[in-house]
Amino acid sequence: MNFGAHISIAGEIEKTPERAHEIGCECFQMFSRSPQGGKAKEITESAINNFKKNCQKYNLENYYIHTPYYINLASANNRIYYGSISAIKKELETADLLGAKAVVTHLGSAKELGEKEAREKLIKGLVAVGNRHACSLLLEITAGSGNIMGDSFEEIAYFIKEVPRQAQDDKNIKLGVCFDTAHAFASGYDLRDKKAVQKTFDDFDKIIGLERLKLIHCNDSKSDFNSHIDRHENIGKGKIGIEGFEMIINEPRLKNLDFILETPGGKAEEDLEILKRLNKR
Ligand SMILES: [Zn+2]
Ligand SMILES: [Zn+2]
Repeated sequence: MNFGAHISIAGEIEKTPERAHEIGCECFQMFSRSPQGGKAKEITESAINNFKKNCQKYNLENYYIHTPYYINLASANNRIYYGSISAIKKELETADLLGAKAVVTHLGSAKELGEKEAREKLIKGLVAVGNRHACSLLLEITAGSGNIMGDSFEEIAYFIKEVPRQAQDDKNIKLGVCFDTAHAFASGYDLRDKKAVQKTFDDFDKIIGLERLKLIHCNDSKSDFNSHIDRHENIGKGKIGIEGFEMIINEPRLKNLDFILETPGGKAEEDLEILKRLNKR
């Protein structure tokens, strides 16, 4: 188990490991490009080499790439839809070059197409990403505001089952899950005490299978349980609370996973200290 945070690349990807190390990260997540969109700048070979060297220097083996925010695999607008597919492909290629562990993505919104059609289009999109990548793609559980997809274990399990079924074998993309504590809590998966944490991961195991769980986004929630509102809070200051995080961090079934903070207001350093203190292993 490693603790880390989302780190800004600030235009220089090779400096990211140092920035992560400075605030006490044992693992980290980053965008490989501007998350709002715009044309991705090619990462040069020397930047890749320096990035890897710096990861070694700071003993950072596990790092992840988050896809840009505009991804929508259920858009009625085909420019956005195909743009999302190629953006995911591109991030998986970049992740392979950088030696990242996985790419994390949001899925999109069913607002334009309605639930059923949106799901089918999304599955076709994931099939179209293809299998030419060593890295796996982690579908992130969402808070489910509006018609955002991926807010229930059942829906994520459906995608994980259907994509390989619809793909020819040689096009099979490797899929896993990123569990965001704030999103799951806002979607109705309780995490406030030991019993709740156990039940949530029992359900995860029954419905998706814990072998698919590859990463934890570790965020407290400013919004209420089951509110479907995505608002992160510092650890212990939100509605999940410190007891909840103590149970999550010490849950035996999560002991081999990395925990990434996406702290609002750049206070990741303090939150990292809290996580390390709560870890009783
Ligand atoms: Zn995310
Ligand atoms: Zn969020």
